[in-house]
Amino acid sequence: IKNEAQVMNDNKYKVLKRYFGYDSFREGQELLIDSILQGRDTFGIMPTGAGKSICYQIPGIMMEGITLVITPLISLMKDQVAALKEAGIRGAYFNSSLTPGQYRKALEYAKKGTYKIIYVAPERLMNREFLEFAKSVNIEMVTVDEAHCVSQWGQDFRPSYLKILDFVEQLEKRPILSAFTATATSQVKEDVIRILRLKNPTVLTTGFDRKNLFFSVQKPANKYSVVKNYIDTHPGKSGIIYCLTRKLVEEVCQRLCEEGVAATRYHAGLSDEERRQNQDDFIYDVKPIMVATNAFGMGIDKSNVNFVIHYNMPKNMESYYQEAGRAGRDGEKADCILLYGGKDVVTNQFFIEKDNENEDLDEEERELIRERDRQRLKKMTFYCHTNECLRNYMLRYFGEKSPGYCGNCINCLTQFEERDITRTARHIIGCVDSSGERYGLVVVLDAVHGNDTEKVRRYHLDENDYYGSESDKSVRYLRQVADFLLLNEYLLQSDDRYSVLQVGPKAGPVMARQETVTMKIPKEKEPAVRRAKG
Ligand code: ADP
Ligand code: ZN
Repeated sequence: IKNEAQVMNDNKYKVLKRYFGYDSFREGQELLIDSILQGRDTFGIMPTGAGKSICYQIPGIMMEGITLVITPLISLMKDQVAALKEAGIRGAYFNSSLTPGQYRKALEYAKKGTYKIIYVAPERLMNREFLEFAKSVNIEMVTVDEAHCVSQWGQDFRPSYLKILDFVEQLEKRPILSAFTATATSQVKEDVIRILRLKNPTVLTTGFDRKNLFFSVQKPANKYSVVKNYIDTHPGKSGIIYCLTRKLVEEVCQRLCEEGVAATRYHAGLSDEERRQNQDDFIYDVKPIMVATNAFGMGIDKSNVNFVIHYNMPKNMESYYQEAGRAGRDGEKADCILLYGGKDVVTNQFFIEKDNENEDLDEEERELIRERDRQRLKKMTFYCHTNECLRNYMLRYFGEKSPGYCGNCINCLTQFEERDITRTARHIIGCVDSSGERYGLVVVLDAVHGNDTEKVRRYHLDENDYYGSESDKSVRYLRQVADFLLLNEYLLQSDDRYSVLQVGPKAGPVMARQETVTMKIPKEKEPAVRRAKG
């Protein structure tokens, strides 16, 4: 005779096979499902594509009552429900795409218990009719998809997500709460638990490491030719090229097309019709190269994306990982290449200061958000400058443990030599210190290099002791050293919009001539290049 737990365990696998056609669970799925089935609040943090949906769908099917799934993505709801129907699961969605008539009818069916799993937009929750319905049935679980939307530190804060708790509290019986997101910074994690009031939840962060992705950062003088060359040397491969602005999307796409590449484009400035068409062309490999802004990708499940090239550095690691992660969903080896340029930092800073997404918040909150965004941009910039294992840097950012060496990123494959940079470090830090920690990176490096610029003269930096002290080095090299000093806290940068350089906590012993500083620099002129196989 089997006990209840064993029966449940068997059922879980049966449901997985019968409804989804899979034989085994992926990392973390089983633990999250078990947690929910035991009636515990559950919080799963997994990257895009890891398979979050079945973590709530399987318990949703197995539990007696109704599972409500709150998700902001209307287009996704439709697909999810269609997929459920195909698998023989009764599902429905309530959002603004329904006409009032359709909505009423769906509610009626729902009241009769027709649906097991119901997707709902957060704005609908406090709708009177919906509330009435929710109170009249057995809602056994409320699942919050894209749960990072409750956090103002998350990248897509939705004020309507703050109403979820109100909604839950109006129900007769408190349902199990489960939350899922691909955003894993500790601030967002805390916010989700706090704002949704998860009760002693099971929290699982998993699967951020996508071993099949090769990560690389390049700083080319000519980004376009890197892209073109990559495409030419990887014939038949499908990939996405992300650009920061619509204008760049247009330029890059047009040029590729003129040079015979089957490319298409996607950004928010195109008509719905064209976006749909271009998206389809890409998905069905009519045009295997997609040039797009970050508007492209949400809810797109194309498994055979072989590479993702970022033409510009994105605004933070979350965006980068999500966008890069669209490569290699089929588990095949895939390349994620970031083309860094100093201008990218400036463009992102501009977006942060403009912040027209947060118009409904008051100024104090907006400044807090800007400050966060500046910090996140800084972390993103460090990613582009580090000579350590890129995967290690990323996984640590997302709160996962990682060995220091992955063997599948550009830094792990590049041979470095240690160079003593103590003298240069002292000169840069000395200049920052003696000029009163008042100036930004460009001015300080100009001064140390001995450039005769208008700002250098205006700030009297040409009279500084360190003026011209590194005139034998290139500004590019000085920039590299400065980035290293920032990355390793010999220097800091203020969090306001001026990014003023400050002396960092690790500078003391170096300035006191007690410690030396060494920096890894690539040995060969050309970094090692790895080709995607298969
Ligand atoms: P997420 O919501 O985490 O981005 P999805 O739930 O959309 O990811 O799942 C991504 C893909 O992985 C889907 O095609 C899904 O069917 C598939 N998938 C999920 N779980 C499994 C599994 N255990 N075995 C095989 N494929 C799975
Ligand atoms: Zn590595």
